[in-house]
Amino acid sequence: MDTSYRLNNELEFNTDDMQSLQDAFCKANDMYVICVGKSHGQITSFSGSQAEEEFCDLKFSSEMKREIMDSFIDGTADNIVERFGTEEYLMYRGVAIRGAAGAFLGVWLCFGVDKNRIPEDKTIPENLKLTTLDAFDKSILLIETLTKYYFAEKIKTQTLKQQLLEEKDTEHEIKYKLKKNEIMTDILRLMESENSFSKISEDILREAGNYIGCTNTALLQISENDIDVDMILEWTSKDEEALISKFQQIPLMDLPFMNGKPYTISSDATLPEAFEIFFIKYGIKAAIFLPITVNDSTAMYLCFMNRGAERKWSVDDLRFANDIKRILHTLLVKKITTNSLASSYNALEVILQNAGYGIVVADLAQKQTLYTNDTFNHMFENEIDRLAIQEIIFDEKYTLPELSGYSANGSGKWFDISFNSIKWVDGRNVRMITFYDITDLRLYQKKVEKQAQEDILTGLYNRQTCEKDISLEFVVAKKLNREFAVLMIDLDDFASVNEGLGYSVGDDLLEYVAHSINDISYIKGKCYRVGGDEFAIIVDHDNIANLELIIKRIMNLFNNPWILNGQEYYCTMSMGCVKAPADINDATEILTRLNIALHGAKNKGKNRCEYYNEQSQEVMTAKVKMEQALRKAVEDDCKEYEVYFQPIMEFINGVPNCCGAEALVRWNSPEYGLVVPDRFIGQAEQLRLILAIGEHVMREAAKACKYWNDFGHPEYKVNINFSVVQLTQSDILDKIKSVIEETSIDPNNLTFEVTESMAINDMEWMTRILSAIRDLGCRVALDDFGTGYSSLNHIRSMPIDTIKIDKAFVSDMDSDNFSEAFIKTISELADSLDVDVCVEGVEIDKQVDMIGKFSVNLAQGYYFDKPLTREEFEKKYL
Ligand code: C2E
Ligand code: CA
Ligand code: CA
Repeated sequence: MDTSYRLNNELEFNTDDMQSLQDAFCKANDMYVICVGKSHGQITSFSGSQAEEEFCDLKFSSEMKREIMDSFIDGTADNIVERFGTEEYLMYRGVAIRGAAGAFLGVWLCFGVDKNRIPEDKTIPENLKLTTLDAFDKSILLIETLTKYYFAEKIKTQTLKQQLLEEKDTEHEIKYKLKKNEIMTDILRLMESENSFSKISEDILREAGNYIGCTNTALLQISENDIDVDMILEWTSKDEEALISKFQQIPLMDLPFMNGKPYTISSDATLPEAFEIFFIKYGIKAAIFLPITVNDSTAMYLCFMNRGAERKWSVDDLRFANDIKRILHTLLVKKITTNSLASSYNALEVILQNAGYGIVVADLAQKQTLYTNDTFNHMFENEIDRLAIQEIIFDEKYTLPELSGYSANGSGKWFDISFNSIKWVDGRNVRMITFYDITDLRLYQKKVEKQAQEDILTGLYNRQTCEKDISLEFVVAKKLNREFAVLMIDLDDFASVNEGLGYSVGDDLLEYVAHSINDISYIKGKCYRVGGDEFAIIVDHDNIANLELIIKRIMNLFNNPWILNGQEYYCTMSMGCVKAPADINDATEILTRLNIALHGAKNKGKNRCEYYNEQSQEVMTAKVKMEQALRKAVEDDCKEYEVYFQPIMEFINGVPNCCGAEALVRWNSPEYGLVVPDRFIGQAEQLRLILAIGEHVMREAAKACKYWNDFGHPEYKVNINFSVVQLTQSDILDKIKSVIEETSIDPNNLTFEVTESMAINDMEWMTRILSAIRDLGCRVALDDFGTGYSSLNHIRSMPIDTIKIDKAFVSDMDSDNFSEAFIKTISELADSLDVDVCVEGVEIDKQVDMIGKFSVNLAQGYYFDKPLTREEFEKKYL
């Protein structure tokens, strides 16, 4: 069964895939969906029983379906359209399938039955899938997202495939042309040999058959009595059965094509009966028959036959076959008349004039051009080229530059030239020079070379080219005793773009970044893509004075959002910078130093530029060492990661009371001692070790809190910090659930702290995941509010229970009016939204007093207590 399907001739994909996608989707979401193409009707079939199908057909009329389709075609609907029927409990939606540039290709027609609104007196089929309005709408959004990514991927791979195919075609075509030229030269040379007609013809049949790629080539001759036909020469491709023995003394009448006319018969032609019989009898699938006429009567037939496989002849095949016919004709005439080339000169000229290559015959001794064909004249129309080529024609010692061919300055064309010595009509030794135009081939080769140096996605030069250019610049700068620099950029958290928004969006981002960097003045052409999300820039010795400026411009680029999928997306980057040559001995050292500098930038908290210096190397070594230790600690069941608890105070009538604690991890390492999180969380995130560590902290914190709840403080809550890496895990909800089950803690006593920076790029996703956490009964706090990308809108639209105001505001409070005003505004806004406010970093009396003025109910800080071990905390607060 053919399961590939084309939507509007634009997109090919597998209908089986779509069907299974649809089947699974309908089953999981208790609804009905089918896929309909814009112009080709229904693509998938109904998922469900016959009774279900009948019900859906009855309730979801074809008029309504058409109406949905039309609303996409005329552009009134965007991606999702809703329709209403006469019965309230039936829900109808359409979700658009779009191709490249948003072209509408088809639609998912979706139908759902709302179980909450089915009238009591209604009878519906027994096994009908039932859902709710809310679930149905969520599923529709899911279809929209899935479709977007599914087709975006398809479109991308398909365009790539298409490009590859087109390139293969050109390559094939060029090779074909060159081969033809080669064969023609060989054949022309053959004509000159002293061999007999049959020996030469045999060789020609072989060359021609090989070139055209058919199974049999042959010469048929009509006997002198004009009644029979004999095959006098035959060539067959490897393993092919020869026909020559069967083709002896065949009555002329049995060969329908031998009537003096040429025939080109491809396999798909409808044949007259006589031909049909002949073809079947000899197993021929396609053939070219060309009469060779001498003195007004057909002397021979040149045949190209394909047996076994079907064949369609191309224009090029036909042209070639006719050239061969003319050559054989010339040979024949030559044989019949005299033995000199002179007599066949006229005939030969016809061929040479039309040949696709330039020919010159010259007498070197006399410095005389004897003959040029039209193609040659046309090739060297240009005066400059014509003069230049004259020298080559008469230069006995001229050798063609190897590999590259001859380049004509005036026309910009490239030629392959071959020299042969032949006997001229009057017997003197002359030189025949053939010119093949290989400009296309050269261009193609250039393109291929360029592709090998370039990165396909961004069009920037790739890593190999970068390394080569660094080496070159290194040599030059050293010689001139000048400085140059190399920058290496790595996008921060690029993996989360790919994971969160899909690979095609990730690719978009890379493209934008690449072009924006490459467009900065002084950089143009010197930007390279050296890894997935890594870019390098060479600031050469001429531009080194602008290094600071270049770095500043790059940093500025990343201070603004990129527009992805029509939405703003913030992405930061880390950059390493190395200046050379100074004490550097070779170019590879530059790359090593670059990596070290870049890692330095990452380690210092990303979003910055670091220059390489002496210490960088040590920092790097230290980092690698720490990495191993961190990993080992995780493998060792996270035992070294201890959880400390800092009390959180609630103001009741102005008096602070402990109401729980924030769990803060410490790494108690045998090598490093007690390490605070700021020194290892970043690295643990990069290595994804934070997943294991975070789960460990969550479990330990929940255990502790459950213990407090059971022993006198049922109201105590525990706050757990979540990194973005943790939140983007698809199984994060399962992990939380299993900790709740394991510890039997009241989920309402678990608060998860997240930062706004996670929401900045995908508010929708953030809202979804936080709502899901709250649906489990847990609480959510927005941590470090006021730092980074703060937005009051986020407070309004994010499902949160608590806002934690960053400690920077508290410490600045009495010296800075803004901080005070900020806390005031936030606390008022929080009040109106019924969200708690917690201020962090409270250290002194004065701050406690000032907080008292606002409607802030929670506080945390050294004033009350530092983070304590569990024992210490329990001793004091239990
Ligand atoms: P955070 O969530 O803002 O945690 C509060 C930090 O402020 C803690 O630092 C705490 O010791 C410190 N702090 C508390 N009161 C005061 C004060 O009065 N003055 C000053 N100057 N500082 C105070 P810590 O424990 O070093 O944690 C640093 C950061 O590490 C945390 O910042 C949090 O973002 C992260 N972190 C800690 N534990 C975990 C964890 O288990 N998972 C994840 N993902 N991150 C964690
Ligand atoms: Ca926190
Ligand atoms: Ca905080």
